[in-house]
Amino acid sequence: MVQVNSNYLKLKAGYLFPEISRRVNSFSEENPQASLIRLGIGDVTEPLPNACCNAMQLAIKEMGTSKGFHGYGPEQGYLWLREAIAKNDFQMRGCEISADEIFVSDGSKCDSSNILDILGHGNRIAVTDPVYPVYVDSNVMAGRTGEVSLAGQYEGLSYIPLNAENGFEARLPTDSVDLIYLCFPNNPTGAVATKDQLSRWVDYANENDALILFDAAYEAFIQDPLLPHSIFEIDGARNCAVEFRSFSKNAGFTGTRCACTVIPQSLKGKTCNGDEVDLWSLWNRRQSTKFNGVSYIVQRGAEAVYSLEGQSQTKSLVSFYMNNAAIIRNKLTEVGYTVYGGENAPYVWIKVPRGSDSWEFFDFLLNKANIVGTPGSGFGAAGEGYFRLSAFNSRENVEEAMRRINSI
Ligand SMILES: *Cc1c(COP(=O)(O)O)cnc(C)c1O
Repeated sequence: MVQVNSNYLKLKAGYLFPEISRRVNSFSEENPQASLIRLGIGDVTEPLPNACCNAMQLAIKEMGTSKGFHGYGPEQGYLWLREAIAKNDFQMRGCEISADEIFVSDGSKCDSSNILDILGHGNRIAVTDPVYPVYVDSNVMAGRTGEVSLAGQYEGLSYIPLNAENGFEARLPTDSVDLIYLCFPNNPTGAVATKDQLSRWVDYANENDALILFDAAYEAFIQDPLLPHSIFEIDGARNCAVEFRSFSKNAGFTGTRCACTVIPQSLKGKTCNGDEVDLWSLWNRRQSTKFNGVSYIVQRGAEAVYSLEGQSQTKSLVSFYMNNAAIIRNKLTEVGYTVYGGENAPYVWIKVPRGSDSWEFFDFLLNKANIVGTPGSGFGAAGEGYFRLSAFNSRENVEEAMRRINSI
């Protein structure tokens, strides 16, 4: 019989979203008349920006002509898109990133998992707790962890707690680690990292020859002009960081699929013999072998994000969601909850009232207000006692949800 990858069996059973569905389905069966408002899963709800739709329609027309047809594109992405990204997202913010260092892909979720292909098995890995589950689970699948504890922590991972007590700041580990996953603005807590905080991480990584994997999927939601949008705004980051970017949240591309990974040419790792190798070449080799690029049509859609129209339309999308976040924050604060996040991120992180845990609060909101959120404990042991509400919804639903919370 064929052997399976037994690492998959280490994955925690009853993964977060299936468990939420199970509880929601059983509630709906018992209460068929209840109208649920879902403020749980982090998917956008507003339609694509017009600029992107128009660009994709044009691209489809081109593809139907002999002159405009495109077959396989470059595995790294078309140069015009990489140049637009390099210029608008990096150079205009003073980051020294060139189009060559950008690899266009069909999503940050896969990039942040696939990056393990080019990294060795001996690395000591740090993740924040709570955390975007993909970073942890991809390491489990790749055999980079031991077994899971009852509290939900894997042997072999270093967990950096993000909680109210430490102001949701990712503190440097006391032990030495080689690979660090950071996501700011943060999913799920909505916390942000200042330039000083990121500088401490970059210095740590450079001093310890560590690599930072920086997920900037939510950078467009930053409102405070002093906060960094990219790790490459920090001096020294070109020698110790990879950054993941995505069009999913700023331009509503969750169903259209386009993202990119930035790997500076100056970034080095070492082989088991201690020889230096540049990570750019390994990732380029990996992508050229295992990936055939993002569709021409979708890349044209992504390019349109950087047009004048696209910039103003994505800006309004972001402010629409951020106004939802403000409505959620204000109402919850008014009725007495302690809330975090939601100011530079589309997630509001609620302190669960004393005396109940994350899942009890989930059941309470589901039963009393017919609202579906996400229990903090699903994102890690240190998420226990917290609850995530997402600002990705229609204004009508957000307002109705807040009316219901007001009256329970
Ligand atoms: C939504 C999200 C992404 C984007 O993933 P895609 O695969 O590009 O849609 C990346 N990181 C985090 C933390 C996210 O929440």
